[in-house]
Amino acid sequence: MKDIAEFLPQALSSLNSVLSIFKTIGTVFNQSGDTTNTQESLVEATNVLLEAKSKIISAQEEHSFLSSEIDKLKQECMRLKDWKAESKRYARKQIAPGVFAYIENDFVEHLQDTHKYCCNCFDKTVKSTLQQKTKPIAGYKRVKALVCPNGCPDLELLNYSENIK
Ligand SMILES: [Zn+2]
Repeated sequence: MKDIAEFLPQALSSLNSVLSIFKTIGTVFNQSGDTTNTQESLVEATNVLLEAKSKIISAQEEHSFLSSEIDKLKQECMRLKDWKAESKRYARKQIAPGVFAYIENDFVEHLQDTHKYCCNCFDKTVKSTLQQKTKPIAGYKRVKALVCPNGCPDLELLNYSENIK
């Protein structure tokens, strides 16, 4: 990739030099009143060079785009490596009957007091801390709801499990 990054501007510079020489030759022919086939050939050659110049400029743009895509992929690769190490510290646990969240492996506190991550987001390599709130629900006065800031469905529970699995 680096070779191309150096080659393309050099090729473009060479083409511009040749085009400049052709322009000078064309001016000389015009001044001398020459209307022979040589001048037509010169115009044809100039058009070919202009087309080559256009292709080099397109290749430069493509190279620039691909370079930025590679940089993005490298960053994503680094993030995923970090994520892999970080995610080993957590496990999916049933925190209430039928309610799951990711919590730290060495969790020792009360479930309500420890930070919990949303399973949907965690499985997409995103750490999203669930926030507890209470909300009214039919049949009960209020239930606890764990809310994901990324808009995942609320996790509703009456009470946390005593023994998590
Ligand atoms: Zn979520």
